[in-house]
Amino acid sequence: METYFFYFLENMALIIAMMYIGLKAREYIVPSLAESRKAPLLTGVLTGFLAFAIMYNPLLHEGMRLDLREVPLYFIAYIGGWVPGVIAMVIPFIYRIMMEGPTVWQGVVLGILLPVIIGSLFHGWKNHRKPYALVNIKRMLIGFAVFEMIKSVWMVLGTPATLGMAVIMAMMATIGLLSMGWILNDMHYNIMRRKALEHDSTHDALTGLPNLRFFHEQVGELKYNGVPIAVVMMDVDHFKNYNDTHGHPAGDGVLRSIGRLMEEVARPGDVIARYGGEEFILCFTEVSTEEQAFELADALRERIEDHAFYGAEQQPGGRLTVSIGAAISSADQPLDKLIEQADRALYRSKDAGRNQVTVVKVKANIEPAAEYQVNA
Ligand code: GH3
Ligand code: MG
Ligand code: MG
Repeated sequence: METYFFYFLENMALIIAMMYIGLKAREYIVPSLAESRKAPLLTGVLTGFLAFAIMYNPLLHEGMRLDLREVPLYFIAYIGGWVPGVIAMVIPFIYRIMMEGPTVWQGVVLGILLPVIIGSLFHGWKNHRKPYALVNIKRMLIGFAVFEMIKSVWMVLGTPATLGMAVIMAMMATIGLLSMGWILNDMHYNIMRRKALEHDSTHDALTGLPNLRFFHEQVGELKYNGVPIAVVMMDVDHFKNYNDTHGHPAGDGVLRSIGRLMEEVARPGDVIARYGGEEFILCFTEVSTEEQAFELADALRERIEDHAFYGAEQQPGGRLTVSIGAAISSADQPLDKLIEQADRALYRSKDAGRNQVTVVKVKANIEPAAEYQVNA
């Protein structure tokens, strides 16, 4: 009995160690893999290799090869369904046939085929569509108990294995499987938490747009790469009036809609963010003239003016509008200076009657030289 125990303990250690290494490798070396379409193929092959490693040094009993190969095979089929399950079967299947012996077919059917079939049957495809989904441990164990029951009865009745062996094997297999579930859940939970924290620290909770920190990071990089940019500041006109008339929740809805309209107007490579309050900031890329900056900013202004916001007719002028200020620079200017100039231009648009765009071109240490304005 003792021998069996330590044999299966070794199998378990192998399962836990390889599971840990495999997941860590995925996390650090090929993080994109988890979200790619090749993931089932590769995890299937690696799981097949794990099953093979487990089978390599089995406990021999009257020609039978006893080991915990069923654990990774059930696990992969349970979490990934039949596709990675079938892929994982290939290596152990070939190896078991090659090893021959009196119980080849029982070994293939009970140790390789059955765990994949029952694992796939219990696979909750709805729960596992997300790349970092958590395993439902209870459901996993129920499925495994069904499998172990069928396998143990079959083994005891149909092969030289004894009841004691079957029970110890089932117990160790269950602990091994449970460890795989726990390891996966721990790692996935940590990865999801980290992703959520990263997202929260760079995005605004109300509009879902990037925040100012993210804007600084991205635009800093663009400037470093010498991309010609226009920095655009935008403020909602008479927004206090909107809030007073329709309430803050409706005002929040307007800010969210404006965020979406900005996303629609932005071209690939442009950076948009919520500056704070009802102010937004944009960076149009590949813009080197005032005319270009004006056209892009004015298209955004118009897009917002034309949008049917709830209750817009009660705003001054009967529409919900924004005022915009944009700054481009001839020489390399610090981002803060561009933002400051765009902000000044914005206040000129406000002073000139709102719902308009003002563009300034910043020259090194000289006050804005040119000014473009449109009256709506
Ligand atoms: P104008 O800009 O045209 O001069 O007038 P305004 O009424 O928009 O003036 P201002 O820009 O100073 O007003 C800011 C208002 O925006 C006041 C504040 O209640 C509202 N606001 C700021 N942040 C939020 C927010 O997150 N949600 C809502 N609903 N309102 C906000
Ligand atoms: Mg404001
Ligand atoms: Mg305002």
